[in-house]
Amino acid sequence: MGENSEWYERARAVIPGGVSSPVRAFGAVGGTPLFFERGEGAHIVDAEGKRLVDFVMSWGPLILGHAHPRVIAAIEEAARKGTSFGAPCKDEVRLAELVHALHPAAEKVRFVSSGTEAVMSAVRLARGATGRSRILKFSGCYHGHSDALLVAAGSGLVTFGKPSSEGVPQEFTALTSLLPLDDEEALETFFAEHGDECALALIEPLPANNGLLVQRPAFLQKLRDLTQKHGALLLFDEVISGFRLGPGGASAHYGITPDLVTFGKIIGGGLPVGAFAGRAELMDLLAPQGPVYQAGTLSGNPVAMAAGLACLKTLLDTKAWDSLEQKGRLLEEAFAERCAPLDPPVQLVRIGSLFWLAPRGPAPRAAEALPPDLPEVYGRLFHALLEQGYYMAPSAYEVGFLSTAHSEADCLGLVDAWARFFQTS
Ligand SMILES: *Cc1c(COP(=O)(O)O)cnc(C)c1O
Repeated sequence: MGENSEWYERARAVIPGGVSSPVRAFGAVGGTPLFFERGEGAHIVDAEGKRLVDFVMSWGPLILGHAHPRVIAAIEEAARKGTSFGAPCKDEVRLAELVHALHPAAEKVRFVSSGTEAVMSAVRLARGATGRSRILKFSGCYHGHSDALLVAAGSGLVTFGKPSSEGVPQEFTALTSLLPLDDEEALETFFAEHGDECALALIEPLPANNGLLVQRPAFLQKLRDLTQKHGALLLFDEVISGFRLGPGGASAHYGITPDLVTFGKIIGGGLPVGAFAGRAELMDLLAPQGPVYQAGTLSGNPVAMAAGLACLKTLLDTKAWDSLEQKGRLLEEAFAERCAPLDPPVQLVRIGSLFWLAPRGPAPRAAEALPPDLPEVYGRLFHALLEQGYYMAPSAYEVGFLSTAHSEADCLGLVDAWARFFQTS
């Protein structure tokens, strides 16, 4: 038995399913999950010493690759001065200032410790600000695992064939309305009927948790217009797209400013950080200034703030978004050249440094457009790629992440590995 299997067995004895987050268990692709020992740049090394080119990148945070020297130096320096104060610190202010300067919706920022917490808190703030109860979400969009948002919530849940979760009372989701993406008519109907009781519409402006469902700008604009018209707030959940699609995230990319925005993943440089932000008069409704309660023992943690700050500064200093776009384009061109002629069952959907192998045909823009038979092909592709030294997400519905650490050879190597699979399958 290999080291990965041994550790998985030990893990399953004391950790439910052997994992701390479900998709890690390889349930959708089969086989034994890998236990990782260390990461270096674009590479990750498992418990058996096998080195892989990593296209998961911790599901998004590692836009600079594993263990980037500037981020590690910042973490070391901060940690030596103390790992937690439970009180304000300078880097928290610096990071908030930087987020404010970069993102069009972020007049004021509050830090939390995960994306889940960020969205959960923003929903409470929106209800407090509007005095309304109903919220609107879109099927296929994932906003973390808080009760009210576990409705048609994307990959982890799609992967396990569950529309929702046990343990969430019907009463808790009764105030969550659900619409398909990419459908202006459904928006019109909803807002005509419920617009005036709606506190918040929340959406991943670049849905990336159930495949990569790139939206038409007109649909996002319609959502902006209708929320405004009916006095509902709009939240862009930029936990993935924030600081990835560019310094101003999807909001700047589409030129649409939401009332509230949530961050996670990249904002912590690989440490557990989330944040929600928005217009000052909304954010000032939070305790201690206002009546909407929200708190956290480790929120604004000095080590995590230092890591996030180092990550964002490095992205800015190195003009990372240009080189990420170039790598994305390289991947796309190589796919067109080497894979497309082999008539594969998939197509490459790509925006910036995110990519996804979508089913063939018109690029899907709504969860309902995805066929149910994607996982079977994907499981075989996943394991074939692993054999060749490439680590992709262990689920057909998860996207791939490029980092500044990936070389051209890493990208072309991935495309060649895909091509070898398509050739022989
Ligand atoms: C990952 C993610 C979350 C949840 O963040 P966690 O840090 O895993 O709690 C929320 N929204 C989106 C869009 C995400 O991609």
